[in-house]
Amino acid sequence: EEDLDLLTTQTDAHPDIEEPAALPVLAVIGRPNVGKSTLVNRILGRREAVVQNIPGVTRDRVMHKAEWAGRDFQLVDTGGWEVDVAGLSKQVADQAEIAVDMADVVILVVDATVGATATDERVVELLRRKGKPVVIAANKVDSSKQEADSYSLWSLGLGEPFPISALHGRGTGDLLDAAVGQLPPSAGYSEHHNRTGLRRVALVGRPNVGKSSLLNALAGEERAVVHDMAGTTRDPVDEIVDLDGRLWEFIDTAGIRRRVHKTTGADYYASLRTQTALERAEVALVLVDASVSLTEQDVRVVQQVVDAGRALVIVNNKWDLVDEDRRYDLEREEELDLNQVEWAPRINLSAKTTWHVNRITKALNTALDGWETRISTGKLNSFLGKLTAANPHPVRSGKQPRILFGTQAATCPPRFVLFATGFLEPTYRRFIERRLREEFGFNGSPIQISVRVRE
Ligand code: GDP
Ligand code: GDP
Repeated sequence: EEDLDLLTTQTDAHPDIEEPAALPVLAVIGRPNVGKSTLVNRILGRREAVVQNIPGVTRDRVMHKAEWAGRDFQLVDTGGWEVDVAGLSKQVADQAEIAVDMADVVILVVDATVGATATDERVVELLRRKGKPVVIAANKVDSSKQEADSYSLWSLGLGEPFPISALHGRGTGDLLDAAVGQLPPSAGYSEHHNRTGLRRVALVGRPNVGKSSLLNALAGEERAVVHDMAGTTRDPVDEIVDLDGRLWEFIDTAGIRRRVHKTTGADYYASLRTQTALERAEVALVLVDASVSLTEQDVRVVQQVVDAGRALVIVNNKWDLVDEDRRYDLEREEELDLNQVEWAPRINLSAKTTWHVNRITKALNTALDGWETRISTGKLNSFLGKLTAANPHPVRSGKQPRILFGTQAATCPPRFVLFATGFLEPTYRRFIERRLREEFGFNGSPIQISVRVRE
């Protein structure tokens, strides 16, 4: 309880925790003891004296507002994130991953007196996979005599290592110039932008639910011909479709327009195809045949969308064949089998008669809005503070995990990281998710919640 009070006070008293969205994010990562905290404190201009004197506060801080050369940014400090000695390398990598996901630019701190270790290599691998800009800080180069220590870090393959002494400030200016110089003008969560700049929709569902019919109803039969690539007989893979005056890009429509033959492994390829389409799309329209019972395959497709982290709209097609009884049954079936996506907009329509096909645009927009929602850290923590005060985690074998702090690490889909004193039970996580949705919306979007435990 005490900590929660403190946290609330902290949120109110430190406006620098507000709104990471507005500012680009710089993360300082690296193994324990390489000097991350020392560097962070130096960047913050020794403000640690202020915060560290408040017991229990410093360690709960994740983001700090910082400034260098006239640029404001959020600084992610991974120094306080405890690691176990067992499985150290994996834990460092896990923590780094969260920080890197949050960050626009990363400073990887390496202890130059030790050189690159296996753990450092592991983090470098991760950084390469993520493709975020990285600046290497070769720390503990306290004098020019030691500068040669940093040369070996070229081997990490991430460019020139900056020899610094976080402790004495040597070289840190050049390092920051290099890092801050790569920050985007505003927070750069733009991984979903694409070449056309249009929203990308994946039209998915098991065979015969009406995907091809709906695509025709939306785009018209002729369009398939019009957009065909000049001089080839290939099907157009993606089609630009005009819905209510706005253009959308429908992904992998060739797979829809081409009749799928019933062959061995067809299901497997259908599911692979769905997967690939989802990877390229931002939002999925999942079609089900409302005139027959929901099948396992329908549920599997929906699950694929959630796992891919895409916005979701469920379309109950063939509504022209649905009578009162069937409608009742369908509601029960969806309550039971699609309960995990009760947040998804649903449209009952008929691709054949085009009844309610015009409702698709609004549902797509709703789902994409939810997918892109960002909650400021201040708002989130005041919400979490009230929620956990009124509904604490149940006590288990004498222990009661508490949530110390939360932050929205990403959008598209929204991802939250909660810092807690122990593992949170799945039911409690679901409870938090439900309340987050009640409070902030996220209609049509999966949301992800991960918990970082601090002893
Ligand atoms: P973290 O675990 O990565 O956050 O590392 P710390 O910032 O806590 O630093 C670990 C130890 O390295 C501390 O004893 C620091 O004083 C020391 N240290 C940090 N930076 C330097 C440096 O530039 N030179 C030297 N000689 N020691 C440093
Ligand atoms: P796909 O395999 O998902 O692309 O499904 P198709 O679009 O090829 O449709 C499969 C069958 O369902 C075809 O015979 C369509 O005419 C029929 N169908 C599609 N949509 C509707 C609808 O809204 N109502 C009715 N009654 N039949 C439909």
